Amino acid sequence: MRKKVIAGNWKMNKLLNEAEDFVTDVKGDVPSFDQVETVVVAPFTHLHPLVQKAAGSDVKIGAQNMYHEDNGAFTGEVSPEMLKDIGVDYVVLGHSERRELFAETDESVNKKVHASFKHNLTPIVCVGESDEQREADQASEVVEAQVKKALEGLTNEQVQDVIIAYEPIWAIGTGKTATAEDANAMCAHIRNVVKSFANEEAANQLRVQYGGSVKPANVEELLGQSDIDGALVGGASLKADSFLQLVEAGK
Ligand code: PEP
Repeated sequence: MRKKVIAGNWKMNKLLNEAEDFVTDVKGDVPSFDQVETVVVAPFTHLHPLVQKAAGSDVKIGAQNMYHEDNGAFTGEVSPEMLKDIGVDYVVLGHSERRELFAETDESVNKKVHASFKHNLTPIVCVGESDEQREADQASEVVEAQVKKALEGLTNEQVQDVIIAYEPIWAIGTGKTATAEDANAMCAHIRNVVKSFANEEAANQLRVQYGGSVKPANVEELLGQSDIDGALVGGASLKADSFLQLVEAGK
């Protein structure tokens, strides 16, 4: 049985006091880490205070991006070593907004995935097709190529600790959700793709989340599918009460 992971991706939202209040509000109410992994994925400026707020609770903190080098002349970047140093445990890599707006590529995502393992951060690797690609019946092959490239060169031990977030771009922040059946089929496809380059055990342990307009009204149906191991959630993760409902559904 794979443990579900519910991660709230706040994107570029919330001021520090709002972020701290959120963690204070939810930390006593989230299920135990043994039941479900609860991750708050916050802007860089909030990470250290949030790690401190969440200390001793079942809420873990994630970053929304990082660079792949440990340190050096990379103005404006944040390294995996810096994230680990302040107690961050997860990092979202290759979100479609980063791919579309900040020229993130499969190659850069792959470098970052390797860097995350070097520093003991759990990567949440985002993949997903655009509307045009889905219309052109290319969704499966686009996602397959993204998965293969992002995980290239990992050992089986590393593959089993990866979290992949399948996020069809047309469903992100649009209110349109993939049907539970379609989302499940793509998550199962992703696991089969992983089996083509990693061993069966690693592929069966790796978790595949769904993301794209997940909310309290649809989370149970999505998480009830055989191959959906959690959710990466934007909009509905911003309010403590709806985030708590999502996390509860992951138990
Ligand atoms: C996301 O940011 O990864 C996301 C899925 O957003 P939303 O839930 O708002 O669609």
